[in-house]
Amino acid sequence: MHIGKPLILRGKPFVISAPSGAGKSSLISGLMDRFPDRLAYSISATTRKPRGNETDGLHYFFKSLEEFRAMISANELAEYNQVHGNFYGTPRGPLDALLGNGFGVILDLDVFGKVNFDKVYPNAIGILIVPPSAGELERRLRHRATDDEATIELRLRNARDELAFAEEHGKYEYTVVNDDFETALEELIAIVENEMQD
Ligand code: 5GP
Repeated sequence: MHIGKPLILRGKPFVISAPSGAGKSSLISGLMDRFPDRLAYSISATTRKPRGNETDGLHYFFKSLEEFRAMISANELAEYNQVHGNFYGTPRGPLDALLGNGFGVILDLDVFGKVNFDKVYPNAIGILIVPPSAGELERRLRHRATDDEATIELRLRNARDELAFAEEHGKYEYTVVNDDFETALEELIAIVENEMQD
């Protein structure tokens, strides 16, 4: 019996943050494809409605506000935050199981969630993905066309706030500029590969 001893976690959490429009989702997919046996993705719970072909239990666990609140009360979330008017959080159980099995775990968290996550998982490696410029970010957000004008405006405002916050308070060991996708992907892969060797 080990009273008060922390669980020994062998895997490593990698927190990837970016303002929306920085190209994070495609980079994460490319990264996961490169290390299918060593990396796992932490599926977040959210109160946001599914977009396009998003699948419950694959992209997110889609929850009602009541269900999400119940997860908070039961202490089932390692961290949570309100982003763009919806709640997002990291289920603790699956994450600890993956880490305990030695996986590198990729988490897609907003910059505020990352600060809270660090309090519980101080060994997390932070990777911030940034667009090459503010103008390019706006162009990409508009090009995506899945959101209405008000949502685009909100996301643009949030993107500026998030980048400012990350610069001031975020603990990001690495920053990847997503100008050319393939270059950014190779950079991301090299970072994760290198960190998993430690
Ligand atoms: P989207 O709605 O575009 O899928 O995600 C919006 C934002 O929520 C992104 O910035 C993403 O990083 C963040 N996010 C997704 N899952 C989580 C989570 O579990 N916790 C936190 N704090 N943020 C999350």
